Amino acid sequence: MKLDILVLAAHPDDAELGCGGTILKHVAMGHKVGVVDFTRGELGTRGTPETREKEANDSAKILGLSVRENLGLPDGFFINGKEHQLEVVKAIRKYQPDVVLANARYDRHPDHGRGSDLAFEACFLSGLSKISTGQAPWRPKVMYHYIQSQLLTPDFVVDVSAFWEKKIEAVRAFRTQFYDPNSKEPDTFISSPAFMKLLESRGHEFGHAIGVKYGEGFLSKKSIGLKELGALVLNET
Ligand SMILES: [Zn+2]
Repeated sequence: MKLDILVLAAHPDDAELGCGGTILKHVAMGHKVGVVDFTRGELGTRGTPETREKEANDSAKILGLSVRENLGLPDGFFINGKEHQLEVVKAIRKYQPDVVLANARYDRHPDHGRGSDLAFEACFLSGLSKISTGQAPWRPKVMYHYIQSQLLTPDFVVDVSAFWEKKIEAVRAFRTQFYDPNSKEPDTFISSPAFMKLLESRGHEFGHAIGVKYGEGFLSKKSIGLKELGALVLNET
């Protein structure tokens, strides 16, 4: 199945947190969007790989994903090397996306920066015809990095105001991971009420930057080209 947008993510829930609103917006516009998670998040303090898988599938339904796949690479220990690059190349060639969204280039969790590098190199390698996977070579047209825990200054912001509540619903589908007053599991950085406030504040901050209620920010390694200026959000504030 060919996808318009493929989101690559080190852990199930990275896509929801970093670009859930952007996914929802593009699905609503009729684009085919899929998520390939690199790992099952098996080192996460709360939950298990099995609960995380069910939660990821529940969230996929909320987001309206055309596909969600897990590569089963080792959480915490996947490497940006040939073996794992080829696994990501196979996913890129399978789904032939025009746009790839990948992890933040550096972040609190080291898997995010490494996942970003792995995604970047796999996108390039996927276009090389002499790398044989039994599939046609494919290179995505553009790749952008969503922003996660660490505050990074975005190169552009997508207006996701109309999709914010549904994004939070998708995040909350990961019931074992985020704030639940009835949970008996150990507290973590992302399970505190403060983390949900941070998420909300971040959405407002990026939204404010472009004069809308909620936004999601992205970075690009390359200059961003526009066919024309008409698609820009006008920020008169
Ligand atoms: Zn993560």
